[in-house]
Amino acid sequence: MAFDRSFIGPGSLANLVPALWRQQVEDWPRLREALDGLRKVRTRSFRLGLSTVVVQYNPGREASSAAKVDAASLAARPCFLCKDNLPKSQCGIVYRKDWLILCNPAPIFEPHFTISSMTHQPQSVQVAAPVMLDLARDLDGHYTIFYNGPSSGASAPDHLHLQAAPVALLPHEKELVRNICCGRTAESPGWIDWVHCEPVRIGVSRPGHRSAIFLMSRSRDELLSALEWVLEVLAEVRPARPEPMLNLFVGYADNCWTVWLYPRAAHRPSFYGLGPDEFLISPGAVDVAGLLILPRGTDFERINEEIITRVYEEVLMSPGDLLRVRFKLAHSERVGGNGVRRSC
Ligand SMILES: [Zn+2]
Repeated sequence: MAFDRSFIGPGSLANLVPALWRQQVEDWPRLREALDGLRKVRTRSFRLGLSTVVVQYNPGREASSAAKVDAASLAARPCFLCKDNLPKSQCGIVYRKDWLILCNPAPIFEPHFTISSMTHQPQSVQVAAPVMLDLARDLDGHYTIFYNGPSSGASAPDHLHLQAAPVALLPHEKELVRNICCGRTAESPGWIDWVHCEPVRIGVSRPGHRSAIFLMSRSRDELLSALEWVLEVLAEVRPARPEPMLNLFVGYADNCWTVWLYPRAAHRPSFYGLGPDEFLISPGAVDVAGLLILPRGTDFERINEEIITRVYEEVLMSPGDLLRVRFKLAHSERVGGNGVRRSC
């Protein structure tokens, strides 16, 4: 499919992507100004049990946090991810013919990319997941790829897109890497309860930890098959249309993919809004992974551990539902493409 502002250069995709960022910061004033803003953002750090949550005051994210994502509002606005509507200064890298790697003009990270489908079609985890695995590998594991479900933080749920950020910037991602890398003993089992080892390692958060599900494998096909099974279980425990509510992450290191997802219970907390007792918090993947984005200064000043805990309690799958997911995963006969299962 044609895109007349393709960024082409020598070297691997992992080298080309930061070159695109540098060129766009140079040539696209909107991105340069946004980046200047990002470099001045203030952060606060909170401790929630064993986990760290960083709060980022980022006024540049107000449009995203306040985005109206109902069908009528989406139909009434020109889609900002359709290639014909992209700003004239925006260039992109055509990826595997059907995707366009773009610099995010409202960055949370430096650099921060949006990977947009060439065609206008809705967010779909089934379509996104294989591309996320390929992209994480094609970027040599230097970037973490993430996806917001259509009612779980996507500000353009009508246009399929992913995002990419440098690896291990998110607090929960760092904690995950530490957990996986540390040798575990019966006395110190870690906060992930691994329920399967082969052909795909599958685990869920232990009670008292942020609800999440983890998958690891060196096999792309087995991993996609196991993920499909996890999605089926999520749909049984908490049915939702068009797909189970979730935020999905993919990382790649040492020829092995790590996929983790946060099953969701709500799009936004009950106290979402612009009123004096409300908070402009619209959690997406980044937020549930421990980097909470607040576009309003007043929210940034008054947020505390109690409010953050409430945000996660309301928007993430409840511990009771996660236990039901764990039970189904641990006791099902099905696990992956070849049907062979080995419990941990
Ligand atoms: Zn579109």
